[in-house]
Amino acid sequence: MRVLYTSDLHGSPGHYAKLLAVAESFRPELVVLGGDLFPDDSALEPQRLGHGQPEYIRTQFRKNVIDLRQCSGCQNVLMIFGNHDWGSCVPAAEELVTEGVVTVLDLNQSVNINGLNFLGYPYTPPTPWFVKDFERLDKPGDRAPLLGGARWDPRFSRPVQHGANLMFDGVQTIAEDLADLTAPDDPWVFVVHAPPHETHLDRAYGNKAYGSRAIREAIERHQPLLSLHGHIHESPTVSGHWRDKLGRTIAVNPGQSSQHLSYVTVEIDVAGKTVSKLEFGQQS
Ligand SMILES: [Zn+2]
Repeated sequence: MRVLYTSDLHGSPGHYAKLLAVAESFRPELVVLGGDLFPDDSALEPQRLGHGQPEYIRTQFRKNVIDLRQCSGCQNVLMIFGNHDWGSCVPAAEELVTEGVVTVLDLNQSVNINGLNFLGYPYTPPTPWFVKDFERLDKPGDRAPLLGGARWDPRFSRPVQHGANLMFDGVQTIAEDLADLTAPDDPWVFVVHAPPHETHLDRAYGNKAYGSRAIREAIERHQPLLSLHGHIHESPTVSGHWRDKLGRTIAVNPGQSSQHLSYVTVEIDVAGKTVSKLEFGQQS
């Protein structure tokens, strides 16, 4: 099975156009999008925080995915959310799911595409960014960060700002989310926005490791064939690597840059439960 993976497109028209070009020549059976796919609302219209992204999903993102499927002949586009996304994106994406345009991956139910199983997880450990709907403390006992932010409140149809302590108080941690994870049948792929901690994949400038410890432990425990990550755009540049190994799992973060589209192409032998080919690419 031929899979095209990228993440962190942040609503860039140039990056979506480049993705179309790559898909047209690679002709994947499946495209996987690893989160942070929409423009920040502050860039769209700051006074309408949390409203711009769902509108983008219903219009431009929908069109991008339909174009992507048409130009490449690919039948399935799988996605997760990321830490830049407001909770208001969830019902908008649900509409596309109902329409059969895209599939949103989660932990609750694995998705089977021609014998290959997928689970997805969008949450990241706390970041300095303002949007907090897809952020959680990594492990129980972790201290809340100094900076707060805002979460979407569906009761008022707007984001509500909180200090960091309140923000994470009483919210399940990433480790708790992943504690009850049941791995689907082999072979399976885990699509997770945040990269695993202390790997080649989680390096920000200064070589600091910003990945998730809980996500690393879950991968080590359940050993998917492949884990696909994003979130830390500069990691491949800083570490010099876009892939790493955690036991039998091949973990990948192609990163992202403003000039090029960074992506990976994967060929999976589903019956043999192996990755037969894995390549990094950049489209300018
Ligand atoms: Zn991003």
